[in-house]
Order: sequence, then C-alpha cells, then structure tokens
Amino acid sequence: MLPRHRPPEALLASLSAVRGRADRLTHTEHLPAREARHAPWPDTVRPEIVAAALALGVEQPWAHQAEAMKLAKSGQTVVLATGTASGKSLGYLAPVLSDLLDGTEARNGRGATALYLAPTKALAADQRRRAAELAPARVRAALYDGDTPPEEREWVRQYASYVLTNPDMLHRGILPAHPRWASFLKTLRYVVVDECHTYRGVFGSHVAQVLRRLRRLCARYGSSPTFLLASATTADPAATAHRLTGLPAVAVTEDCSPRGPLVFGLWEPPLTENVGEHGAPVRRTATAEASYLLTDLVESETRTVVFVRSRRAAELVALQAQDQLGRPLADRVAAYRGGYLAEERRALERDLHSGRLLGLASTSALELGVDVSGLDAVLMAGYPGTRASLWQQAGRAGREAQGALAVLIARDDPLDTYLVHHPEALFDTPVEATVLDPDNPHVLAPHLCAAAAELPLTDSDLELFGPSTEALLPILEKRGLLRRRGDGTWYWTRRERAADAVDLRGSGGSPVQIVEAETGRLLGTVDASAAHTSVHTGAVHLHQGRTYLVRDFDLDSSVALVERADPPYTTAARDVTSISVLSTDTTVDWGEARLSFGSVEVVNQVVGYLRKRISTGEILGESKLDLPPRTLRTRAVWWSVTEDQLLDATIPFDQLPGAAHAAEHASIGLLPLFATCDRWDIGGVSVPLHPDTGLPTVFVYDGHSGGAGFAERGFRRAVQWLTATRDAIAACECERGCPSCVQSPKCGNGNDPLDKAAAVRLLDVLLAGAPVPQDEAAAGAAPVEQGGPDDGGGPDDGGGPDGPGEAP
Ligand SMILES: [Zn+2]
Ligand SMILES: [Zn+2]
Repeated sequence: MLPRHRPPEALLASLSAVRGRADRLTHTEHLPAREARHAPWPDTVRPEIVAAALALGVEQPWAHQAEAMKLAKSGQTVVLATGTASGKSLGYLAPVLSDLLDGTEARNGRGATALYLAPTKALAADQRRRAAELAPARVRAALYDGDTPPEEREWVRQYASYVLTNPDMLHRGILPAHPRWASFLKTLRYVVVDECHTYRGVFGSHVAQVLRRLRRLCARYGSSPTFLLASATTADPAATAHRLTGLPAVAVTEDCSPRGPLVFGLWEPPLTENVGEHGAPVRRTATAEASYLLTDLVESETRTVVFVRSRRAAELVALQAQDQLGRPLADRVAAYRGGYLAEERRALERDLHSGRLLGLASTSALELGVDVSGLDAVLMAGYPGTRASLWQQAGRAGREAQGALAVLIARDDPLDTYLVHHPEALFDTPVEATVLDPDNPHVLAPHLCAAAAELPLTDSDLELFGPSTEALLPILEKRGLLRRRGDGTWYWTRRERAADAVDLRGSGGSPVQIVEAETGRLLGTVDASAAHTSVHTGAVHLHQGRTYLVRDFDLDSSVALVERADPPYTTAARDVTSISVLSTDTTVDWGEARLSFGSVEVVNQVVGYLRKRISTGEILGESKLDLPPRTLRTRAVWWSVTEDQLLDATIPFDQLPGAAHAAEHASIGLLPLFATCDRWDIGGVSVPLHPDTGLPTVFVYDGHSGGAGFAERGFRRAVQWLTATRDAIAACECERGCPSCVQSPKCGNGNDPLDKAAAVRLLDVLLAGAPVPQDEAAAGAAPVEQGGPDDGGGPDDGGGPDGPGEAP
C-alpha cells in the first residue's frame, strides 16, 4: 500500500483551493534541489579512517567537511555551522580520530587524547557509536557521565583516548578531580563542543566559564587543545564560538550536502467568530488548523508529520484529524507521545516508511530517537522558536529525487504573524544569534571559586575569566569564600566542594518543587524567578503537557502542592512592576529619541490572578494573592521619546500608556527573532513618565539575575528589532489589537491599556531618527552572537505577567 506521490506544488495548491482558504497561504517559497559538492580527503586524515568511511558509504567528504578537517588540523578554533544531516560529525571526527590514531603509536599507547561534549547523555552515547564505526579498536572511546559505574571510571581516566561527556560532568566530576586526569589532560589535543547552539542564555554562560576553567588547567599541564564546535545554522557562529570558548574562531557555513527540492508554504489561520480579552478577535489556533490540513493530506495519501509544542496538542491534532477522516483512514493517523520503548519506535518508523501510517502528530521529542526522514509533507503548528529547529523539522520531509512539502502554520502571536508576512526573515540570511553572557557576575563568581579550588588563581588568570574578574575577587574574599595569600594568589577557603555551589542548568535561587498532593510525588521544579507567576495558589499549571491546579504554594519551604485537574480555564497572574536604572553602559541618540543599555533593578509583585475561559479567553473571575515583592537586578535595553516627538506622532497624553504598553508587548514578542530566547526569558515595563529618564520610556530586560545577553542583543540589533516590531503590529488585520499583534498571554495588567494604532505611530517617530541598519558583519563583531535550541517550549496557553515565565 505504498502511497502515491503527488508533486508538492499540487499538494499545496489543493490545500489552499478549499473554499474560504484563499487568503491563508501568505507565501510560497521554492527551494531548489542542491547538488552535492565533494572535495578530496585532506592528506592529514589517516588512511584507516578513510577506509572506514568508505565502508560506511562515504567515498569523499563534502567540501565543508573537508574544509573543517583542514582547519582543525591547523590548530584553528573552528565552528562548523551547517544544516541538519550535513555530516558535521565526520567533519570533526576525521581529524580527531586521525590524531588519536597517531597517538596510539606512542609508547604508552596514548600519545594524544580528545574530549567530546554534548548537551545530553543520549547524544554522547550516539556519538560514541559513530566514533567506533570510524576508528580502529585501538582508539579507545569511552563515555564518562553520571551513569558510568565507579569501577569503570578509573579505566577511562587512565586508558581512554576519546572521552565523551557533558558540560555538567566536566564541571562537577572532571575539573575538580583534575590531578586524577593529569595524564589525559597533558595530551589533550582536541575539545569537541557539539550542538553548541544549545549553550545559550544563563546555561550557555555557565558552559563558557567551564570551558575557560578547562583551558586554564590544560595550560598548567602543558597542553593547548584545539576547540572544534558544531552548530546549527545561525547568525554569526564565529562570534558565538568566540564567546563560548574565549578563543577567536573561524566559521565554516557553506553547506555542500545535497538536498531535494522543497516547497515551503507560510500559512495564517483565519480570525474566528470568538472574542478574547477586551473583545479582541481570536485566530483559529495553529493546532486546529493543522488538524484540518492533516486531514486533507491524509485523504490524498500523503505521508505527513505534524509538529506541535505539547503532548496534549499532539493528541488533539490526531484526534481531530481522526474525527474528520472517519474510518478506515482514521486508523492511519496517530499521535507520538514520547516514552516509547525502542521496539515501539522501530515499529512506528516502519509504519511511516511503508505508508501504513499516513499521519503522525508529535512534539519535537520525535527528533530524538525516531528516524522519520523521507516523508512527503511536514506541518509545523507554530514557529518552533528558532530557524535551527524550523529547518530540523522541515528537513523531515523529502526523498532524494522527489520534492516535498513543508508548511509553517502561524500561531496567534506577534512573532508568528511577522514571520508569515516576512518570508525573508526565514529564507534569507539568519537573523537570530545564540546569545550568552559569560561576564555576568552571578555566573562568573561561582566559577572563580571553583577555579580557585582547582588551582589557586593568580593575576595572570584575570584575562582568561574576563573583565568582571578583577572587581569580583575582593567581593568573594569579603564573603569569606576566597582568601588572598602573601604571594598574591587566591585560594578557596571552605571545606565543601566549590563546584557544588552551582548547577549549570539552574538560574539562581533555589527552585520551587512541584509536588503532587495526593501521592507526594515530585513532578519537577520551577525556577524561583518564575514561581510567583506560574505556581501561585490557584494557578493552572502545565507540566510536561499535563494540566495541574496549584492547591497551595508555600513560600517558606519552596513547595507548590498540585493536583491533576482539567478546569475549563487558564490563569493569568496580575502584577505590579517598577523599574529603576542602576547604571547606563551605552546610550545612542536616534534623533531626539534615545536608546540605552545598562543595569536595572526590577521590583515585581504578583498581586492576583485572572481565570480565563480556554475556548474564548473570556474572563471568568479575579482573585487576590498575598505575595511579597521580589527584586531582580539585571540588564535591560530601553528607549525613550520626547514630548515634541509625541506631538509629531499625534499621541495625546491619554493615549501614551496604551501606545507604549502595546509597543513593549510586541517588541518582547519579536526579540526571539534576533536572540535565541523565547518570550518567557525576557520581561518588559513601559512607563509614560519614568523618573530616571524624565521621559516616556519602554524597557525590555533579561529575566535572570545579572542578565543573559538577550537585552544586549536587542540593543545591538535595535533598528531591525524595533522595525520588525512596528511591521508586525501594522501587518495584523485586527482592528484594535489582538494576540497576533499587541496582546500578550503573560501581561501582568490584563492587557490593559493597549493602543495598537498609537503604538505604530510611536514606533514610527522613534525609528525616524534611527541610523540605517548596518550589515551585521560590517557592524563589527558584537561579541554576542549565534544558534538555536530544539524547542521554544512555551505552553500553548500560558499565563502570567509581562515578567519572565518558567525557564525551559
Ligand atoms: Zn492584531
Ligand atoms: Zn502588559
């Protein structure tokens, strides 16, 4: 029962030919097939590796792989930033394994070593298998992570030449025990940092400092390893690699792997009869629209996968499509829920390949562990958060010669609205960069302690750890953590392990535990910074796709007791926020207007919450909460306009709060297009007359203590960012503001006041004085850039104020 194959153009045409759908297809992009470009094996690659590659079907590397191999061998820090399935592993494995093979000829059999870092254990395990396929057995590759039995660890330290681990293990297990790793570190030739675009925000900043600690120890042992990074395609990967490793890096970005032709449609669901907050029109959800398109595709026997954000949405899409299809076709649609056993996954793969299964709805979890490449069509219900994940998902469609179809269905938010009306933002040069800020003192301080515990710090280490170091050391001394000796070196003074003081994936403050009241089972945790808005008493909380009601939030014990529930409403916290400028780093004048970047203090208090009907957004009621205010010191970008400019824009003072508030909301929605954050990582405040600027001012700040680099990125790309914000608002066809433009699901003021038209005029006068945007590369190495995580991860129906929400 192999499905018949229809050309993707015809498929897309038939989808949009259905009555009433004419306007929904906003753009069609034809991505032509790309021919493979090969290059000869560099002669530095050992013949054993070439032979092994040949046995795996690789006669010659693609040109980008060969280039990376050559650069690696020359000792250059290199980042290979090409698409999914472009063979990045071979690009770094060939030089690494060649050197390790050379090393086996040393007297002790280990003349060279290499370290591989992956963000997850599963990926490291997968890479170990790849290395084993390519390298002769005398190159000893071994995993070293939390699952490695103690009795094997000593063997790994003494004999393995290729050690595969993760940054957490490096931070907690390897670096603090470096004397036991001395012989490994002494001969360390390469450090591979795979999927490096996942090291973003606070986590990325921590990893950057862990890599600096590694470099320092290597230097003491006399080695100077070459860093090889692999990344998804993003803006300016070289600058991110530099920021991550502290070393200047060269990027290889031209993808020379072959690709079949792809037809890519951008699709905007229609406004519905339903009304939401303040009578705003509501669009049909992306998941509902996806179920209709899936139905049509399955009817035409097109093998299709739908990507959604949550498991609940996956089940909903499959159920709706099954209802619409009826028997027998309904049996050929399924939802993928994750947590399957290996044999169940293999069965699913087989069914998809054979065409027994025609439709599958899934979260991006599918990307890990099931091979479903080679499908006829991919539907994406909502922008997956980054271009990297977009291409990863779209890449599931397409068999070699035949064309395939991908359709991005916009969700009801400003970013998706912008994208379906601005295809250039998706199909031209990447605009989003992986953002991290290793200089954040909140991140740096614990790593200085850990480094001092590993080996006393000296003045010569100051440069390695960055410009904040010098000021921080005396502070750490005052706190009794470090002590300065007569010889000028800094020592760790405590008995406990310094590395235990920081969790790379946490973002400060002890997290709040989510406990199921009935069973006492720990379901997970929420960042302290997000707890007040997401797990206050009475909150509807989504956790891994399931819905819970918070019965009690105990501040003292940092525990939220929850119970399974399916209320017909969501909750949205209401808060009051004030912000003050602590210091200004940089200010630029845009004509009369002014744009600044610096440090701020945000005081936020959650004061109550609204219950909103899920289906319509209608407000069912409001409750008060008694929670203390919280203070966040972080980094922000802000802009202000003058009273004359308000006159020019014909914005009377009574329209100003709604204009600024609407501009703030939309700008938070659009920042993820330029920085790899999602709208839950950042917060905003708009003030008609701010005491620190004396002017109407809009602030957007990082939701993590000390900052994460997102606001800085906004500052550096402000012209493009705020222009996109303006265009997203103007493009929305609603009359007075809706979730697709200026309403925010996490507004702490219940989306009031908002003035859509005045917001466009306000942004127009602001941008009138802005400089002509420079090309990113020409603008000169803003040391901020690059990559994309797998999933933006926000819930489908969230709640909360403009403040940042649950960390992904
Ligand atoms: Zn709108
Ligand atoms: Zn708001």
